[in-house]
Amino acid sequence: MRPLLINGEWLMTSHASDNINPSDTSDIIDSFAQAGLAETQDAISAADAAFASWSLTTPQVRHDILKTAGDEIMRRKDEIGELLSREEGKILSEGVGETVRAAQIFLFFAAEALRLTGDKVASVRPGVEVDITREPAGVVGIITPWNFPIAIPAWKIAPALCYGNTVVFKPAELVPACSWVIVDILHRAGLPAGVLNLVMGEGAVVGQCMVDDPRVSAITFTGSVGTGARIAKDSLPHMRRLQLEMGGKNPLVVLDDADLDVAVDVAVNGSFFSTGQRCTASSRLIVTEGIHARFVEAVAERLKSLIIDHALKPGTDIGPVVDATQLEQDCAYIETARREGGNLRTGGDLLKRDTQGYYLSPALITDTTPDMRINREEVFGPVASVIRVRDYDEALSVANDSEFGLSAGICTTSLKYASDFKRKSEVGMVMVNLPTAGVDYHVPFGGRKNSSLGPREQGSYAKEFYTTVKTAYTAP
Ligand code: ADP
Repeated sequence: MRPLLINGEWLMTSHASDNINPSDTSDIIDSFAQAGLAETQDAISAADAAFASWSLTTPQVRHDILKTAGDEIMRRKDEIGELLSREEGKILSEGVGETVRAAQIFLFFAAEALRLTGDKVASVRPGVEVDITREPAGVVGIITPWNFPIAIPAWKIAPALCYGNTVVFKPAELVPACSWVIVDILHRAGLPAGVLNLVMGEGAVVGQCMVDDPRVSAITFTGSVGTGARIAKDSLPHMRRLQLEMGGKNPLVVLDDADLDVAVDVAVNGSFFSTGQRCTASSRLIVTEGIHARFVEAVAERLKSLIIDHALKPGTDIGPVVDATQLEQDCAYIETARREGGNLRTGGDLLKRDTQGYYLSPALITDTTPDMRINREEVFGPVASVIRVRDYDEALSVANDSEFGLSAGICTTSLKYASDFKRKSEVGMVMVNLPTAGVDYHVPFGGRKNSSLGPREQGSYAKEFYTTVKTAYTAP
């Protein structure tokens, strides 16, 4: 059993939960101690007590710990990447790639610790000095989802520690292994007791306990809209800062003048790689009339050629869906889309493989309209729908017709349309001739509308959430 980490001590509990490989449900990766209310409260107390001294450590101390952790993650990328693919089901190259990204994030924030600056501003009053500085927010509650088992914990934990906050971290129930590994690495890298606490367990118990505790000054969450909304509502009495990253229903527009090969690559990658389980996945393919038939034909052909199998098997293009519940949801959405008039062009079949896993062939649904549920609600699986439109203007209007606003893409060779789309997309991230999913680690990440609440994550913009600004006036 892998223990919790509370106040610098590894702690076993009477309760444990098995971590199961979605490529092979007979493969139990490990078992993980489960926190209840008492352990979560202890973790919050520890983080609260550790804040006074950690918040005053020098940037050098924080740099060195983050750098040591980043270097170890990079050194162990193959081993951790394999563990990631085993617990989440994305293919090995994606598992290793995500691990490298986590290492890069720690190295980026190691350096950021040394770069935090303030402002000195002339006062409007004679003789008065004004200093503007940033201070850590306090105890940060970190709640993460299952689809990026190491990158999302990294992009929340690294900036939290970099800017002098203490942390209570609750990973997703389905993927505790990579979280455990990075907490172990940070602990051994020299974090003082209580600065980073790991409480694995149920969202409704551990997560909710963090939300209900007034000592948690800030919560950063990635997950579903429903849970995000609940966290926002329950946080209101505590007036805490929030950073919520939730769903997407990301459009990819394909115009008549697109390079067909580029458009097909961008669509197949953005919609289906990582089993479509990315909040930035392109789930609505909005295609103009002149290229529609050729595009649909080429995407369907490509999908049929992909190998869906065990995530660790060499040659696999797409691994399994993460668990039985998610698989059921994916199939239910495909069924609803068909009932509402969509045409299942290819995929949507449950597949049998050598090992028992949650295998679903990538589904392409054509002849859909913007009002159908498949085009309004997030599926979070290897499922994309095609909406046929007349021209660019209709494509833009359909793309923006969503309660979500995370990422949007366009495939075109026209500078005019590309520029207009970048300007008018109601999203946080916009891609031209690139998949809607797949972003750099050193620039802001986040969305608009129901996709996000609060300041951006990643890059130097992360400090907007993890620090609070102080304006100091001095008279000589
Ligand atoms: P998903 O459907 O992707 O699992 P969730 O929003 O349910 O998305 O889960 C994202 C994270 O939020 C997980 O770590 C989960 O345990 C946690 N969570 C679920 N319910 C709550 C809650 N009431 N309060 C805080 N965190 C929660």
